[in-house]
Amino acid sequence: MLRIGIVGGGVVGATIAYELSAINKDLNITLYETNQAIEGATWAALGVLVGISSQKKSGRAWQLRQESILRYPSLLNELESITGSPIPHNCQGLVHLCFTNEALAKWQDLKKYRENWTLEIWNVPELSQRCPEIVNKDIVGAIYSPSDWQINPIELTQALWKALTIKGVDLRLGQKVSQVIMSQDAQSCRGVMVNNEFEALDYIVIAAGIGSPKLTNKVQIEPVIGQALHLRLQKDKHKDFYPVITGKDVHIIPQSLGEYWVGATVEFGQSDPQALQSVLDCAIAFCPTLSQASIVGSWQGERPRPVEMSAPVIEQVATNIILATGHYRNGVLLAPATALKVKNMIFK
Ligand SMILES: Cc1cc2nc3c(=O)[nH]c(=O)nc-3n(C[C@H](O)[C@H](O)[C@H](O)COP(=O)(O)OP(=O)(O)OC[C@H]3O[C@@H](n4cnc5c(N)ncnc54)[C@H](O)[C@@H]3O)c2cc1C
Repeated sequence: MLRIGIVGGGVVGATIAYELSAINKDLNITLYETNQAIEGATWAALGVLVGISSQKKSGRAWQLRQESILRYPSLLNELESITGSPIPHNCQGLVHLCFTNEALAKWQDLKKYRENWTLEIWNVPELSQRCPEIVNKDIVGAIYSPSDWQINPIELTQALWKALTIKGVDLRLGQKVSQVIMSQDAQSCRGVMVNNEFEALDYIVIAAGIGSPKLTNKVQIEPVIGQALHLRLQKDKHKDFYPVITGKDVHIIPQSLGEYWVGATVEFGQSDPQALQSVLDCAIAFCPTLSQASIVGSWQGERPRPVEMSAPVIEQVATNIILATGHYRNGVLLAPATALKVKNMIFK
């Protein structure tokens, strides 16, 4: 029986454990997570899946995005049927607002690279008709990507944890891996130290987000703060079409009637309340009715950004150690593709 240990129970580690648990092989899978509940970057994420409408045209970055967007619908179906609970998500697509003709031209160019996907380019009257709540004189058009989604990251990860337990994965909540124990020649790993005890493993996947560098010197991760808001609009109008709206790097994410998430800041160093205010101001500038909303809450988290490496880091760093970390701003989006890649690396 092959013993595989995954360190980190955020969206990335949990999806890897889930994808491995679906393999019809004799596996003993353990997922180690320091916390009892979901914390880390996953807890703070907005869960916007900017896949088909990302500006990546080709190569690894595009392949991973496309693979994730292709996998998400079936992953959700599987999880909902295993756990018996729905996972809140918004599959009405993503609308990117454009403020210059140059930006619009970039989208027109991108459309050529998305032959097998739908990307609609809207002029201002079309945008006003589809999304009447968006009013801003500087907008020159918009791009609509129906295949990009938003999913609740906490509920998704909770569903993954539940499915893992049902599928016989050893989910070790509240158990921190303090060290990865290498072989004498330092070419492979023998196991991990947990609660001062050695546990033998045949394979280890490090998916510990900003905690990854404590377990290996093969990656450096810089935490990048993101702050976001929950807004409530008392007199919101019912809409049949309520996609995620994105402009100037700010997302407006409808949750349910009158409930919106807005974010997020991108801050290197200390978090700054003014940065969050600027995000709110920007959202109100596109969607003026939000000026009447009350702030129900705000939160922040630390995105794992790899230093001097491209995000995400999905690499074999010793015979039986795989790094799956540093997903920076796209960990929710890229978790399914990361999991498939890790699976293929272990079972080549
Ligand atoms: C405000 C904000 C908004 C965001 N919005 C989006 C978005 O819209 N779309 C998107 O795709 N991404 C978004 N992100 C980014 C996303 O949150 C991250 O890329 C993603 O959550 C990374 O997942 P992870 O599992 O690698 O890391 P984490 O969620 O941080 O999980 C790592 C886990 O490892 C555990 N751990 C660490 N060390 C150890 C150890 N030694 N032993 C055991 N366990 C350990 C930690 O406790 C943690 O639970 C956002 C992030 C922020 C902060």
